[in-house]
Amino acid sequence: MNYPAEIITGCVHIHTTDSDGTQSIEEIAEIANQLGLDFIIVSDHMTLKSLKEGKEGYYGNTLVLIGYEIHDPDNRNHYLVYGLDEILPSNLRAPDYVKMAADKDALGIIAHPDEIRGHLPEYPRYPWTEWNIEGFNGIEIWNHMSRWMEGLKKYNKLKMFLSPRSFLTSPSDRILRIWDEFNQDRKVAGIGSIDVHAFPYKFGPFRLTIFPYKVQFQAIRTHLVLDKPLSRNLEVAKQQVITAIKECRVFISNYRWGDASEFKAFAESESSRVEIGGYANWTEGMDLSVSVPKAGEIAVIRNNKLYERCKGKIERIPLRIPGLYRVEVKLKNKGWIFSNHFNLR
Ligand SMILES: [Zn+2]
Ligand SMILES: [Zn+2]
Repeated sequence: MNYPAEIITGCVHIHTTDSDGTQSIEEIAEIANQLGLDFIIVSDHMTLKSLKEGKEGYYGNTLVLIGYEIHDPDNRNHYLVYGLDEILPSNLRAPDYVKMAADKDALGIIAHPDEIRGHLPEYPRYPWTEWNIEGFNGIEIWNHMSRWMEGLKKYNKLKMFLSPRSFLTSPSDRILRIWDEFNQDRKVAGIGSIDVHAFPYKFGPFRLTIFPYKVQFQAIRTHLVLDKPLSRNLEVAKQQVITAIKECRVFISNYRWGDASEFKAFAESESSRVEIGGYANWTEGMDLSVSVPKAGEIAVIRNNKLYERCKGKIERIPLRIPGLYRVEVKLKNKGWIFSNHFNLR
């Protein structure tokens, strides 16, 4: 069998009317299905109501998974948990809920860790402050909502509301550095998330919806590299998604610049092939193969530093030394595709 067997494309971190979103799971699932998404992960604040009502499953061809978003008593340290049947107690601090979720084998992702905005007092920030933790599986390295909020100033409000995707340039250097550092020691997945609520907003005489679901689903996407096609059986499919994320078989993209689902990257030696997220011993003569759906600026990052840069569509880059590698693809200097790591020791 050829590995990868299948690359699936989805959107992560979705709010519904179960908390502060504006459409129901059924309506959101329908939009995702129409747009051809293979999966979405719903993360409402402090509730698993729809999970308990049996709403997890396939809607057309879209697998809808239901987790939730937990935060601490100060409304900081937001954390996406997937794979639990019950929500954890609401008075916990971050180190406790991260550990408890891990002990129950759930999937845990640090949400919008780099919220550093401070321009508009009406939108408070929700940063991640507890880095002395163990047991989380991933970090939102690119959160649409918080990156957009950071760029929001009084003078550009209307433009940003009308064209929310065009302001997404790249994940922040700060969070990429933190993510790269964690991966020196263990696997931590880099997730792209949309954090969609589709808020209604009154702007003078206009009524706008900030980030309608349909627009958001065509922005930051998370792609998973599976070793078998995604099962139609809910229980099997759930485990496939959880495992792929825990194993960092992940790349993320901004669909605004093009459909990235055909992106491929792997490291190869004469005798072996290492997929995204893989660990292997580095050997002399190793290459990194990168294939992009359309020509872009390809950068190979090694240990958080630029290792090599080239322009093209299909490239083979020699990996002359061991290291922690990953790939970034930009189009006209805007971030398009970000792979997870190849750990070649
Ligand atoms: Zn949040
Ligand atoms: Zn959220």
